[in-house]
Amino acid sequence: MRIVLVGPPGAGKGTQAAFLAKNLDIPHISTGDLFRANISQGTALGLEAKGYMDRGELVPDEVTIGMAKDRMEQADAANGFLLDGFPRNVAQAEALDVVLKADEMQLDAVLDLEVPEDEVVKRIAGRRICRNDSSHVFHVEYNAPKTEGVCDTCGGELYQRADDSEETVRTRLEVYHTQTEPIIDYYRAQNLVVTISALGKVDEVTARAMAALKK
Ligand code: AMP
Repeated sequence: MRIVLVGPPGAGKGTQAAFLAKNLDIPHISTGDLFRANISQGTALGLEAKGYMDRGELVPDEVTIGMAKDRMEQADAANGFLLDGFPRNVAQAEALDVVLKADEMQLDAVLDLEVPEDEVVKRIAGRRICRNDSSHVFHVEYNAPKTEGVCDTCGGELYQRADDSEETVRTRLEVYHTQTEPIIDYYRAQNLVVTISALGKVDEVTARAMAALKK
């Protein structure tokens, strides 16, 4: 299966992607995670991306599309993948279509996670992520770790993403509405969009997503 996950920052894309990828036995490809890995390894690509990310803006397409394409061409993605955070604008969606067509492949679904805006802000403000594995995500109120600042799953240190500050979140939401939301119409025209509510417990949302994808 080849799936694209869309939804505003804080919709739980990363959390859901980790579970869905495991259930469907396909790799979870997150461009945000790829950028963060490049930043922590101090690569040229990471250096270039960092300023945009810290401001909550999109990293330029020339950089992003090449990186996503390289990842999709790795062996583990030959039979499918779950894209999380890519494409994030129509130009990237068109570039993805070109990559897929070249290999005579197509997307099976675009899963759109819907969350009200006030909920998004609350989710992001309290979000804490594990330094060892970004799919280990907690929330100070809704999903608090047993010990403050420590990951329940692996004991790693929990931190708040620099771009989860209130000011940057406002920019990210604006970017989502103006640049990313139009891809939903782009994919609607291809009859690929499945919209589900991302409210409720993590496992409830995963079950909802699996049911929607099976259809
Ligand atoms: P995420 O982890 O998906 O929330 O992404 C964090 C940040 O990485 C975004 O706010 C952007 O600055 C950058 N980023 C991730 N994916 C993309 C993309 N497809 N295009 C441009 N920038 C991206």
